[in-house]
Amino acid sequence: MSLSEFALIERFFAPLGLVSSNHNRGVALSIGDDCALLETPVGQQLAVSIDTLVENSHFLPNTAATTVASRAFGACLSDLAAMGAEPAWMTLALTLPETDEAWLTDFASQLAELAALYRVILVGGDTTKGPVLTVTIQVHGWVPKGQALRRDQAKAGDHVFVTGTLGDSAAGLDQLQTTGNVNALVQRFNQPCPRISSGLLLRDWASAAIDISDGLLADLGHILERSQLGAEIELTRLPLSEVLTANYPLKQAQQWALAGGEDFELCFTVPAEKITAFKQVAAEHPVPITRIGQLTKNPGLYLIKGDGSRQQTTARGFQHF
Ligand code: ADP
Ligand code: MG
Repeated sequence: MSLSEFALIERFFAPLGLVSSNHNRGVALSIGDDCALLETPVGQQLAVSIDTLVENSHFLPNTAATTVASRAFGACLSDLAAMGAEPAWMTLALTLPETDEAWLTDFASQLAELAALYRVILVGGDTTKGPVLTVTIQVHGWVPKGQALRRDQAKAGDHVFVTGTLGDSAAGLDQLQTTGNVNALVQRFNQPCPRISSGLLLRDWASAAIDISDGLLADLGHILERSQLGAEIELTRLPLSEVLTANYPLKQAQQWALAGGEDFELCFTVPAEKITAFKQVAAEHPVPITRIGQLTKNPGLYLIKGDGSRQQTTARGFQHF
């Protein structure tokens, strides 16, 4: 490496670890020692999640460094959102084939921008040379003890909701692979928007939540499995963006909404007795919230079509192996 490992950390990543009196997030010791020293606020639990992006597996060679940073950070933060946790810290493991200063500049500045936006301090990491560009981010968030949104607490009769719109990211990937043009759909794929504020709101309302990384059916399937329930999803209620339906046939759009990955929206359940009050709160929330179905005591995942017919479906989604 032309730039020494320590010079690289100092120049590109140490700035993301700086704390100030009004932004210390409980960091007693940041980047530069063998470990960081961190304090979790009294009464809060630590929510921890890690995600890895590997060149060729998760992104194409020559993907912009800013996109790699956005996708790595967004995927990770989305897990905190799904638990109802407030982001606080992250660590970063980078494996680089070479020290490309332009790439590092773009990557670090995008990460810094997002970290500032979500109030996350970079408290450490590891930097290595290796054959394939690999980015691993671990995030740590806080959630009041007992208030985390788990997958296993849903009940029959709970209503199923999602945030935002579904299918855009899969359509964005399709656009990248076919036209190569960057448009609003590609933006959704390149720059996932973790629904942290929605997760914080849902602490008071949801019985269970998950983020949609592998596709709605697959991820809702995890809630069903862990809570031992079934669900009925109304096809016509799936929230589809205008840009998606303007560019693709409805069937394709619905297919992506059900099984396309990486939307990083939240899918969550709300007990029936809370629905009236929740609808009012949801209407004022800055992120659209749509009711798409209901949980059933009988297992199985069913799609209800526009004509009222029911069709059993399987929870297909992206799987690595
Ligand atoms: P050690 O040898 O103890 O593992 P390193 O030499 O790997 O420490 O790292 C020195 C310091 O720089 C540590 O505090 C580590 O957490 C931090 N660090 C290393 N790589 C990164 C990175 N990519 N981003 C942020 N901090 C990093
Ligand atoms: Mg190390």
